[in-house]
Amino acid sequence: MVQTTAALAVYPGSFDPLHLGHVDIIDRAVQIFPRVVVGILENASKDSLFTPAERVEMIGRLYAEVPSVEVRSFSGLLVSFLKELDATIIIRGMRAVSDFEYEFQMALMNRRLYPNAETVFLTPKEEYTYLSSRLVKEVIGLGGDVSGLVPEPVLGHLQARYRKATHPPTR
Ligand code: ADP
Repeated sequence: MVQTTAALAVYPGSFDPLHLGHVDIIDRAVQIFPRVVVGILENASKDSLFTPAERVEMIGRLYAEVPSVEVRSFSGLLVSFLKELDATIIIRGMRAVSDFEYEFQMALMNRRLYPNAETVFLTPKEEYTYLSSRLVKEVIGLGGDVSGLVPEPVLGHLQARYRKATHPPTR
């Protein structure tokens, strides 16, 4: 039998930006696990809106008053990050059947790479099942309103980022 350490769970993702679907999953995870590390993947090949450092800062501030939540970034394999933290539990959000195939493959691959790794799937409230970071960026990028879809401080950062993009500073 493999050995899992359930004291600490890692919730990995891009979180570019963090939206209320992610927040819902974190809220659920802290009800189950004593400590939750939100792991922000530094993915050089992916066009990102916010740098990993900006995301760590933004999400870290949001959870500054929640001692059971820690925010860190990582690069490379998730299983290496798990080992570094001495963790075995991976939290993933499952929005719909469309998430299933990819998530199932990832869970099995992670277990192959690290037999102690155990993936726990959590489902958000129905109202967040259609939400994704990509959609949030698309909507705000086209001038749509994303309030009520992202935490208030994240909304401020998004608005500032897109204002800057549409009104570049004049020389
Ligand atoms: P996104 O799809 O929003 O870009 P990430 O790559 O940051 O998300 O995903 C991190 C984790 O959060 C994944 O497990 C993903 O399934 C989960 N997740 C993303 N959006 C939601 C949502 N609306 N509700 C629940 N979980 C979600």
